[in-house]
Amino acid sequence: MVSPAIALAFLPFLLTLLIRYRHYLALLCRAVLVPWLRDRATGVPREHRAFQYVLAHAVPGDPRHVLHAFDRWCDRREHLSSVGPVKGRIVERLLRERAPWRVLELGTYCGYGTVLLAQALRPGARLYTVAVDPRHVAVAEKVIRLAGFDERTVELVAGPSEEVIPRLRPRHGLAAADFVFMDHGKRCYLRDLRLLEGHGLLATGATIVADNVLFPGAPHFLQYAKTCGKYRCRVHRASLEYCPGIPDGVAELRCLGDG
Ligand code: MG
Repeated sequence: MVSPAIALAFLPFLLTLLIRYRHYLALLCRAVLVPWLRDRATGVPREHRAFQYVLAHAVPGDPRHVLHAFDRWCDRREHLSSVGPVKGRIVERLLRERAPWRVLELGTYCGYGTVLLAQALRPGARLYTVAVDPRHVAVAEKVIRLAGFDERTVELVAGPSEEVIPRLRPRHGLAAADFVFMDHGKRCYLRDLRLLEGHGLLATGATIVADNVLFPGAPHFLQYAKTCGKYRCRVHRASLEYCPGIPDGVAELRCLGDG
């Protein structure tokens, strides 16, 4: 049994910890505990709940409105791990600057990043998006179609990225990507970048943009990008999606050679 005097002595320390890490505790509640409890209570997965909200509030065929509905859901209800509006503006600016013809997204999740990328494509450009988790494919497909994009603009490919990447050229006709957006498992970033290199899927001068490189973080990916000599690497600092108190960043890699 801890004496009250000892417990009181630790109180300032505990309060300091709570204040210092309050944003992370709030994230733990909003991203893990509350959705888990609602999953159990309703029997409906969080991604499906989010889609029902978007379906009820977004204007079909209007990608901006679909993204805005997602943002409102995440701000007011539950946290979803998409790129979000703040980092989304960085990604969209980079995409518009590069004006690529062939875009590859790794990590479709609910389709937020897919819609963000697709609405910024130049006419005639094509987006291949890889849904690494089969549980989210149905929601992502409905979100993409709700936003008004058909198979000619967005091709949704389901499967683990390490299996899909080698098939992109022979089965899906992607010769090489000019722009790659990574927003799947952070531990997969480096492996998949090397897979893209190994299969010659990075076009000359291609741009690779990776989300969440500071939180949860992808240190090995960043170290490789900065030291391998194949890329010019820059980190655009921002905050975690829907959590202004948690620093995060988007990495921009520009291929220096032939990929
Ligand atoms: Mg992300």
